[in-house]
Amino acid sequence: MARRKPTPKRQLAAYRAKRDFTRTSEPSGDLEAARSTRLRFVVQKHAATRLHYDLRLELDGVFKSWAVTKIPSLDPAIKRLAVEVEDHPLEYGDFEGTIAPGQYGAGTVQLWDRGFWEPDGTRTAEQMLARGELKFKLAGERLKGGWVLVRMRPDKHRAGRNNWLLIKHRDAFSHSGDDAALEADSSVASRRSMAAIAAGKGRRTARPQSRSRRPARTRSRPSHV
Ligand code: MN
Repeated sequence: MARRKPTPKRQLAAYRAKRDFTRTSEPSGDLEAARSTRLRFVVQKHAATRLHYDLRLELDGVFKSWAVTKIPSLDPAIKRLAVEVEDHPLEYGDFEGTIAPGQYGAGTVQLWDRGFWEPDGTRTAEQMLARGELKFKLAGERLKGGWVLVRMRPDKHRAGRNNWLLIKHRDAFSHSGDDAALEADSSVASRRSMAAIAAGKGRRTARPQSRSRRPARTRSRPSHV
């Protein structure tokens, strides 16, 4: 009955197919990310065609990923549309910068939150994802406590794209009303604003979360000063 876990390489096929790594500064996923005893998560604020927030939860060697169409809300009454997107490599958890014009997802990416997550309840994360209701806890800098991702009915017109709702659970970290603290324009890694990142100013990432274990083969670009 042992289920074979898909290898990250196969899981990243969709990620790679969308990108030209000679043109985008995003990681190719060729490097092995440092192991972590806890599951990592990141949220990347992404000023693409439309501003959105990419939620990424580490699972089985990759980041399961959702594009959240508005800033996550700490108000349990507010549901955010979260469009399921392709799995991303764990290296992506350190990516902050600007995706070049013309490339997939062109625009500025800011590390908006990061930390660790865990499934909440008796079922495994894989089981909850399959059932379309993933309950989880976040321990990030901006997002904390209980959350749930609930899958909506499949959209017949957009095959392969699952829409979910991201909802805060009521707990010590939830509150009603506005989320002024979440609006601060500051990277959790470099403290840079979106504008500073877009201008290529300041330190790239002060403290990598998923530092590569092997030396980079392809990463020879100069660091910004
Ligand atoms: Mn995105």
